[in-house]
Amino acid sequence: MAVLPIRIMGDPILHSVAAPVDEITDEIRALVADMYETMDAAPGVGLAAPQVGVGLRIYTYSYQDDHGAPWRGEIINPELWMRPLEPGVPDPDEESEGCLSFPGERFPLRRSPAVHVTGTDLVGDPVDIRVNGWCARIMQHEFDHLDGILYVDRLDDGDWKTVQKIARKRGWGRPGAQWTPGIDELDA
Ligand code: ZN
Repeated sequence: MAVLPIRIMGDPILHSVAAPVDEITDEIRALVADMYETMDAAPGVGLAAPQVGVGLRIYTYSYQDDHGAPWRGEIINPELWMRPLEPGVPDPDEESEGCLSFPGERFPLRRSPAVHVTGTDLVGDPVDIRVNGWCARIMQHEFDHLDGILYVDRLDDGDWKTVQKIARKRGWGRPGAQWTPGIDELDA
């Protein structure tokens, strides 16, 4: 197992639609093990395969709220349904999210309050998840990665301009930028 470098906004694989997994091979099992290790090292609440340079429809997630048991898993070839977004402006305190592929920043974004996700796990067993709130946000964020969408792509114009400014300053927004948890210090 290994902690993998995480691609940063501008790397073409983050902006491309990922391909379905045909067969769960040893290579896929090794990739998912590395994704868990990378996600935990970052640390992050989710990680999609394109973020570590693999254009396949796989993501891992890991979250624990104040009361609940740890909620963790991997989903291969997910499908996602969501309740329509509620109208209004997102609350910066309650509705801000971040991304390991735009590290060190958070911006408010309205997400659907409830999702239903299906797919399979690494053994090939069906996954069927219905979640609300922050867990639903994680599912939407990671699913977006498989369609080549970063959460910053969904921000309003003002925040998008800020994103562009930050990217320019840090040399992001073009191919080749990446960071490795535990090795690269990030200036948040
Ligand atoms: Zn992300």
